[in-house]
Amino acid sequence: ERAMAEAADKVLEKLVHEGYEAYYVGGSVRDEWMGRPVNDLDITTSARPEQVLNMFERTVPTGMQHGTVTVIMDQIPFEVTTFRKETGYEDHRRPSEVEFVQDVEQDLKRRDFTMNAMAMDRAGRLIDPFGGRKDIKEGLVRCVGKADERFEEDALRMLRAIRFASIFNFVPSVRTWQGLIHNRASIQYIAVERIRAELEKIIAGPHPLRGLELLERSGLMKYTKIAMKSSAISKSEAELLEKLPSSPAALRWSYIVQWFQSEVKDLELWLKSWTFPSKMIEAITKIIYFDLEIRDCHRKLEQDRLHTRQSDYEGLRRAWITLQLKYGQVTASHWLVRERLLSTEKLTGNSEDQISTPVETSQNLTFYLPIMQQWCTEVPLHSAKELNISGSDVIVQVGRPAGPWVSETMQRLVGLVAAGDLKNERAALLEELTKVENGYGK
Ligand code: ATP
Ligand code: MG
Repeated sequence: ERAMAEAADKVLEKLVHEGYEAYYVGGSVRDEWMGRPVNDLDITTSARPEQVLNMFERTVPTGMQHGTVTVIMDQIPFEVTTFRKETGYEDHRRPSEVEFVQDVEQDLKRRDFTMNAMAMDRAGRLIDPFGGRKDIKEGLVRCVGKADERFEEDALRMLRAIRFASIFNFVPSVRTWQGLIHNRASIQYIAVERIRAELEKIIAGPHPLRGLELLERSGLMKYTKIAMKSSAISKSEAELLEKLPSSPAALRWSYIVQWFQSEVKDLELWLKSWTFPSKMIEAITKIIYFDLEIRDCHRKLEQDRLHTRQSDYEGLRRAWITLQLKYGQVTASHWLVRERLLSTEKLTGNSEDQISTPVETSQNLTFYLPIMQQWCTEVPLHSAKELNISGSDVIVQVGRPAGPWVSETMQRLVGLVAAGDLKNERAALLEELTKVENGYGK
């Protein structure tokens, strides 16, 4: 961060030296002022984009027509944007015209919220024509100018308002909220991926509940193209969400998708319609399917136990390991994290003598969580690659030509080793291959 600040200062210094005005602007000034970590430093200047291009050695003309040039200084890229104003919002999204201006205040005026409409010079002096500092102090998200007009110009700003209110635990100002309610239907003009991106930031933030509550109260989601369950989120359920770590992101999402969509079988399609990247869809659904399967196993084992009165530890342990091999260790440990946090929370709300004996409480999967944690770490291997014999060893030992049976056989060995029935040692593995009655691969 230090290196970034130094490099950015060089960019500003150069611009000022050449006789132009130059400032830090937008989110970075806001975050700096709030004492939050600053990720990207945006710069605004009176210099025209062509002038910026000529002034620095390494540049990329990223958005000349909008006035944006990326300047690379000490290997770090900075967006340098010429002071501009925007007009002609015709589609509730993007301005159709931008015009370069000479005055930084005019540039600040086109920005969405007072907290984002501050500029700072090299010496740390703040330009704050709309009272951003005061609003930050009072915890207010307030539009620059008339909220009604600003949201009409660009409907995404409504979600940004909720995002900032959520992340900073702020309140929208009265006018801003009124403007939002008034314009909420125009969110339909915003592309789903942009909506999803804002939502992801809300969910990953420190107060996702705040965001969900504002989304609910604003009625915004009803006007998106995303199909949602209409039921409101129960407070106690929702509070658990904030206890979950925000990373990996799939963890919180695996929990909240249930509020938005009840049909598990449609889950993947539904996440696709939200334009989630396929990696993320996979991560979310894996956790949910893991959940369904382990609960299902548990239910079946409980029924058996009622009939046979036997301990079901061993059955559950095997089920757990099988699922871990199927879905992967990472999913298993994420599932555990989620489950532990959600259930300890639920339990502490109840009376002390809730856990007495395993038999009484074993209906509740919660009882097994610490044990599952143990199982999770105990599994000695997760894939055929980790076996101490190779595919060709298997072929030689069994004495049959190569075929799909080889990987099936190895998978079987993985299962045996993972469950603790076989040692992952060359001799033991080779011996196992001779043991089976009709021989492997026949
Ligand atoms: P983040 O922490 O997510 O980067 P940010 O405020 O920096 O938040 P950016 O999308 O990086 O958001 O935008 C940088 C700046 O550009 C904002 O601070 C704001 O001044 C301005 N801006 C961004 N989007 C809009 C918009 N839709 N309407 C008006 N101004 C905007
Ligand atoms: Mg930013």
